[in-house]
Amino acid sequence: MGYRIGNGYDVHAIREGLPMWLCGIKVDSDKGFVAHSDGDVAIHALCDALLGAAALGDIGLHFPDSDPKYKGIDSKVLLRKVVEMTAANEYAIGNVDITIALQEPKLRPYIDKMRETLAATMGIDVSRVSVKATTTERLGFVGRGEGCEAWATVLLTGKQLTGK
Ligand code: MG
Repeated sequence: MGYRIGNGYDVHAIREGLPMWLCGIKVDSDKGFVAHSDGDVAIHALCDALLGAAALGDIGLHFPDSDPKYKGIDSKVLLRKVVEMTAANEYAIGNVDITIALQEPKLRPYIDKMRETLAATMGIDVSRVSVKATTTERLGFVGRGEGCEAWATVLLTGKQLTGK
């Protein structure tokens, strides 16, 4: 059994009156993320981590924001496609770990649902999915409420890696 590690990072700006999607669920807020897609910054970081681990490029390569077909798209659809790509290359997901930096609202009440939603979307057990949230103590663009950052780390396993 071989192993591949990947990391992903994404940022979206925050604006009043937009929906706030994170880890595939809607967070109750009067502000949300500016984006071509639904703006799910956590799923975008996760997709990049998966693609990175498999050395399959990045989310912008596969789903360009210049393509009208992806306007307003549910990022869970993108995540499913990325998981299919990794599976087609004979990789399986070992675990995923996500950190979201957002000043408000507090994400604690959403964490379990986020983990369950991501696990169901990827077709893996929820025990393999970690979602963590932090503020930045009001420092920087996140702390001023101007944007949200997310990081993801992924471990892939692949039997075809042995001996390469
Ligand atoms: Mg993005």
